[in-house]
Amino acid sequence: MSLTTTYDAQNIFAQIIRGEAPCYKLYEDDDVLAFLDLFPQSFGHTLVIPKRSAACNILDVDSEALCQVMRVVQQLTRAIVAELAPDGVQIAQFNGAPAGQTVFHIHMHIVPRYAGQGMAVHAAQKAEPAELERLQARLRARIEAEPS
Ligand code: 5GP
Repeated sequence: MSLTTTYDAQNIFAQIIRGEAPCYKLYEDDDVLAFLDLFPQSFGHTLVIPKRSAACNILDVDSEALCQVMRVVQQLTRAIVAELAPDGVQIAQFNGAPAGQTVFHIHMHIVPRYAGQGMAVHAAQKAEPAELERLQARLRARIEAEPS
């Protein structure tokens, strides 16, 4: 997939937005959806996406949607740091397959980083559903408790 690819409405994140595929949802409003990554690079790896933009990447997303996403990225990063106490947090976004993009609906990664652990960029292993459910409950409670 190049940087100029056309948007495929059947991509997995579009399916999640439409409710056709499941996700471990952390946050949703009219414009933005956030959920846990199924193949986490670290404990707490979260994805934040615009709901109304049929945009593959940062080149074609409208700036209003991008700002809405970034407001939620900041809010959730604060909640994740408060709840999981990582030593650092990586905010990442990839554009085009050569840059590491694998799902072609624009998304931001929030990746908590823990001292002494590696810096995996693409994890090969799917997380355990029970672990994702516990993490989802913890983070949702924290997100609801934190001021936005
Ligand atoms: P990219 O490499 O495109 O920047 O990131 C795509 C991310 O989506 C990867 O971190 C990958 O683990 C995650 N992912 C792929 N398929 C699914 C899925 O079905 N559900 C969720 N929650 N995450 C997914």
